[in-house]
Amino acid sequence: MKKRIGVLALQGDFEAHVKSFVRAGADAVEVRTASELDCVDGLVIPGGESTTMLKLLHYMDMMEPVRAFAAAKPVFGTCAGAILLAKEVTNPSQESFGVVDLTVQRNAYGRQNDSRVVHIAPDADFLSRTAEGEIEAVFIRAPIIRRVGPGVKVLAGYAGNPVLVEEGNILIATFHPELTKDSRVQSLFLGKI
Ligand code: GLN
Repeated sequence: MKKRIGVLALQGDFEAHVKSFVRAGADAVEVRTASELDCVDGLVIPGGESTTMLKLLHYMDMMEPVRAFAAAKPVFGTCAGAILLAKEVTNPSQESFGVVDLTVQRNAYGRQNDSRVVHIAPDADFLSRTAEGEIEAVFIRAPIIRRVGPGVKVLAGYAGNPVLVEEGNILIATFHPELTKDSRVQSLFLGKI
């Protein structure tokens, strides 16, 4: 049976994530409520605006259901999703689920340089679990991971900072794998299910 991925669809680029997981061979559905969350094997928290997403998560009574889901099942956060999952958020400090031992600084690349496409060389651990080759990484007003806890594994970095990391069942990217054709990051996440 196909793995069923839920993409949190309150705000942000959730449609691109749904398409990218379908390309990667999964079933992917939009999730907005706790009962929809009950029907999926893994959850994606997409890029967008983390402050807006937080407001909508409260409005939809989804804070506790998502926190409980993350304690039990795989969750993949990209960009704003990474911010929401991190233990500590700066610039400014902000509420989060706090399920990955990271400190992330929001909008950390500065205004003039806030979006870019670069090629990054993944670490050996990523390559041993997927196919060879660089990752095309799209950064859009991205956060920078400033601290990783001892239990966090770095899978790829860019300019001296981690950009793809995992801790247990949580996968974090500060870039946008859903905007490129490469499905390796999605496959890595599906491997957690
Ligand atoms: N700058 C956004 C935030 O702070 C994240 C940007 C993104 O998800 N592309 O929430």
